[in-house]
Amino acid sequence: MAKKSFQEEFELYLKASFPILHVETLENGRIMRGIRKIASDWRRKVTVWSRHSGLRDKDGELITERSLKGALDELLSHVSEMENHIIVLEDVEGLLDDTEISSRLRRFAELLELPEEEGGVSDAMMVLLSPVVRIPREIEPYVTLISEDILGVEEIKRQVVQFLGENGMDPPAEALLETLANALCGLSEIEIKNTLALALTEGGDIDLSDLPMIRAQKQQMIKKSGILEMISTNESMADIGGLENLKAWLMDKAKVFEDEARARKYGVEIPKGVLIAGMPGCGKSLTAKAAAKAFNLPLMRMDMGRLMGKYVGESEGNMRRALALTEASSPCILWIDELEKAFSGVQAGGGGSEITTRLFGNFLTWMQEKTSPAFVVATANNISNLPPELLRKGRFDEIFYVDLPNPAERRKIFEVHIRKRRKADLPNIAIDRLVSETEGYCGADLEGVVRESVERAFVSGKDCLETEDILETIRDTHPIKETMKDAIERMAQEYETKKLRNASKKS
Ligand code: ATP
Repeated sequence: MAKKSFQEEFELYLKASFPILHVETLENGRIMRGIRKIASDWRRKVTVWSRHSGLRDKDGELITERSLKGALDELLSHVSEMENHIIVLEDVEGLLDDTEISSRLRRFAELLELPEEEGGVSDAMMVLLSPVVRIPREIEPYVTLISEDILGVEEIKRQVVQFLGENGMDPPAEALLETLANALCGLSEIEIKNTLALALTEGGDIDLSDLPMIRAQKQQMIKKSGILEMISTNESMADIGGLENLKAWLMDKAKVFEDEARARKYGVEIPKGVLIAGMPGCGKSLTAKAAAKAFNLPLMRMDMGRLMGKYVGESEGNMRRALALTEASSPCILWIDELEKAFSGVQAGGGGSEITTRLFGNFLTWMQEKTSPAFVVATANNISNLPPELLRKGRFDEIFYVDLPNPAERRKIFEVHIRKRRKADLPNIAIDRLVSETEGYCGADLEGVVRESVERAFVSGKDCLETEDILETIRDTHPIKETMKDAIERMAQEYETKKLRNASKKS
């Protein structure tokens, strides 16, 4: 099912007589234009309350200048006249927590649901506009969240042309217009205007040289959101010891991304993403970073912990914003770290906590419908509590399981980390001996062993690192298979039963 547009969704709820809609938006102007159009199509009258203008009727005439509480009192005392009305309350952020307001909203919603003979009012709806979603529990059952549309490329093109026109300039050539619109995608109407104004002030013109500035604006937007983090990476596939199946698979996907337009034309489906599950410290995060380098794309990390807000609707708002920002920054890699933090507990068929279930639904829909080239790399340790829908084929292009490194991989990991620190000593180290002494070590353990050995050799005044230094460190350390014995065994069993694709080649 394709995602509904704002108008379609709004009309659906209007038809079904939903009492209160909450639109999360920074762009009241655009949303109000949409609502007025819907109202005129449906022969509804629009009454608006805002902090600055008070409560105004369909002709813009002032009904009352009062605060939201006063305006709600006014509406409640004339509720029978509200038939066929859409009542919009603008900029309600920070006001709903006041119980004097939420109790009135609740009363209003109750009246909208009552039959007329019992004092209710039909064909009326209330719409709350605010840039953040914080719905008090008291009114939660009456409120439905809907999201504004992200401006499409065609709409952005129209805005660019209009902006240039207003500044006495001709529309740019179609190819330039298309590139600019794609770069501006994901920004709001106001942000687009500001960015264009900045470009004009800087260069006196708007052209390709403005693209870096547009990207910088987007980065700022991402930083401000606090949910996504732009990660700069130096890691490459060569820094990963082993995981050959996973690396080869990623390199193929990178090729498709690199030549996306030709691939699409050829009939290739643009890859959606990969889930990498497995043992801690075995290179999952490292792979996400190396993927960004291989794809030659920016890496955005989504912090699931931060996304989970404590207010009703807040997490969904955050998720929506994060996904919109991802789209805005595409092409990019979206790294969802610790996927299980957000989605564990959602059961088959949608059971589990209401918020996580809805959040999960939003995410799945996005994964399914996204058309922008954003490649998702999700990483998880514990997949036992992840909803089965997520693990079903088709959500991710592939799910890989990362096991503790096998002997051939331990060899490679030792080589990577010794080469990084003591390249000249590498030929003299008997890596075979190290490999046979490190059964049950994860990649992070092996890196730790090398790091410590190099320090030991230095402190004891040696000119070079020797096999014996490393063996000594190994004797003093305990691998993850010992320190987390039970958890590791449980995970190994889980992965075995789920029959996931192994990231490593058989040794
Ligand atoms: P967690 O699930 O605990 O987040 P992870 O699987 O994401 O763990 P990483 O953060 O990728 O593990 O690994 C930690 C460090 O261990 C890496 O930065 C890297 O230095 C080293 N390491 C782990 N696996 C490998 C590997 N296969 N090759 C080279 N280095 C590795």
